Amino acid sequence: MNPWLLLISVCIAIVLALWIPRLRLKRALSAPFPPEWDALLERNVGVYHKLPLPLRAQLQRLILQFLHEKNFTGAAGLAITDEIRVTIAAEACMLVLNRSSGVYPGLRYIIVYPTSFLVERSRPSEAGVVELGAHNLLGESWHNGKVILAWDSVLRGARDFSDGQNVVLHEFAHQLDNENGSADGAPLLANTSSYRSWARVLSEEFSELQDDTRHGRPSLMDHYGATNPAEFFAVATETFFEKPRQMAQNHAELFGVLKDYYRIDPGDWQEQ
Ligand SMILES: [Zn+2]
Repeated sequence: MNPWLLLISVCIAIVLALWIPRLRLKRALSAPFPPEWDALLERNVGVYHKLPLPLRAQLQRLILQFLHEKNFTGAAGLAITDEIRVTIAAEACMLVLNRSSGVYPGLRYIIVYPTSFLVERSRPSEAGVVELGAHNLLGESWHNGKVILAWDSVLRGARDFSDGQNVVLHEFAHQLDNENGSADGAPLLANTSSYRSWARVLSEEFSELQDDTRHGRPSLMDHYGATNPAEFFAVATETFFEKPRQMAQNHAELFGVLKDYYRIDPGDWQEQ
């Protein structure tokens, strides 16, 4: 083949490879949000009807993008329906409102089980020995672009948006935490000073939760957050979205840091 022709063909192939996905996304985003999905979210996501209209419109657009880009697979006989896809997408996208960094660019697959699922994991026992055992999970976030969820827990967590328990918010907070390549409770932040205040506030709050857990004292955040800094960030995210008023009152600095990070104040939604 003529080398010039070959070069032109390669250039055209590269342009098409870049252009076609963008065109497909643009087309997906230009579609109107189906009214039946709107009704479904009113029914399934406890906080959806409280969102201010501009935020709701933004969330709908993010949901369209999420559903365009991610693959859903049912496990253990579960058939994937629009209800499952849209409910999970809505809650996942609440964490990325008011951002321009895309919708979980590293995430490809969401695997949904009908109920909790068993996994083999090695964990340290109380005696400090690492043991292999079967664990029942409601959700799991993998660093290789995968989230696994139990649908009954998803629905329970979505409908009751005030108990501080939400498996979708939890697992997708882990996805955000992973965006910089390490799950350490510190996601990508805007600048160096943000990292300084993040490290100070979250480590103080983490120690306090560990202390409460050790002494069996009640706490606003679930004691599971005392497991490690990554779990603390995921649990704090659940509390931030579901119990914003209590967090602002009792953990003001933590609330402020998370409000800066998520660029929203879920306490405002309770006013609506
Ligand atoms: Zn977790």
